[in-house]
Amino acid sequence: MNDRERPIHVGQLNFPECDRLLEAIDGIFERRHYANHGPLERELDRRLAERLGVRHAVSVTNGTVAIMLLLSCLELEGDVIVPSFTFPGTVQALSWCGLEPVFCDVDPVTHNLSAELVEPLIRPGRTAAVLGVHLWGRPCDPDGLEALCARYQIPLLFDAAHGFGCEHRGRPVGNFGLAETFSMHATKVLNGAEGGCITTNSDELADRLRTSRTFHETEARAAVPLRLNAKISEMQAAIALCSLDELDRNIADNRARYERYRERITGLPGVRFVDYAGDEPNNYQYIVAEVQAAPGAPDRDGLLEALKGRGILARRYFYPGVHRAEPYASSPCGQVELPSTDELVRRLFQLPTGKDLQLAEVDRICDALRDVLT
Ligand SMILES: *Cc1c(COP(=O)(O)O)cnc(C)c1O
Repeated sequence: MNDRERPIHVGQLNFPECDRLLEAIDGIFERRHYANHGPLERELDRRLAERLGVRHAVSVTNGTVAIMLLLSCLELEGDVIVPSFTFPGTVQALSWCGLEPVFCDVDPVTHNLSAELVEPLIRPGRTAAVLGVHLWGRPCDPDGLEALCARYQIPLLFDAAHGFGCEHRGRPVGNFGLAETFSMHATKVLNGAEGGCITTNSDELADRLRTSRTFHETEARAAVPLRLNAKISEMQAAIALCSLDELDRNIADNRARYERYRERITGLPGVRFVDYAGDEPNNYQYIVAEVQAAPGAPDRDGLLEALKGRGILARRYFYPGVHRAEPYASSPCGQVELPSTDELVRRLFQLPTGKDLQLAEVDRICDALRDVLT
């Protein structure tokens, strides 16, 4: 099969250079220190905090566990306002911690929560927190939500799984609200194969998180309600550190692909390129578009089928919305009207990007898209 015929998948990965990684792994074997707060975990915590310009980064097993650990340390009870247009882990982490999700619709343009959408859902005495998601790395109304949550005196948290390297008004994502959580899953811009972290500027919360992530004796011994084995292994930390070394280059390459897509897709009939980056630094890890089918033209699923026939495996995203999937669809919290979310899960799709995707392949994808749409 030649390159022109190679099927192109979404989720082409940014795996770090093999030589660098093997060197780091040799070090692990030499030290015979594979887990339990080894030097690479400590280096990763330090370098993540430095990179994100935040006082503390606490690395953990994955991004879902990062949310769970944070919620547990905060000893929240009651409702948490959260979008339905997100990865299921955002919401299921709440359920693991005995919290009730209150689904909020998203803004049809930003795809994020906003203070205007959240405020009517706040029930004083019942609402324990707001958990926003910076979808596509686009900051989730930090100014509006920080003011709103300060006014109601409820903690503001963000799932920043998409947010490495993104900024809002010169402030890096990782610094907003009381704390933010990141994922270093293989599909994210910073890749530890698996992995995650929690960032905060609160020394007290960081102590609790460091105590909570392990049953092992560590430097942090805060009084916490529960502990969990949520440690990142030295192997994961090694991959994440190599990936961190390459982050700026990967972001620059992502940006070149993003710009190429934008140039080629903007103006195509029946489809809107989601130009989410604006003027703020982003990691450009997501290439998303919305189908706006004219009568007779293919709808989103028809479009994806047609692309598949041309060897391009584009994907829908967050379908059908967390509130329409179990365990929420049949529970009272799932019985809500979220018109913008419903629209987005019907229209949105994600296109391939990542380190191995050449600009010529972006052109091939855009030609196929044009072909199908016209
Ligand atoms: C990937 C992702 C997560 C979960 O992270 P894992 O590391 O896979 O557990 C949570 N929220 C969002 C928005 C994500 O994209």
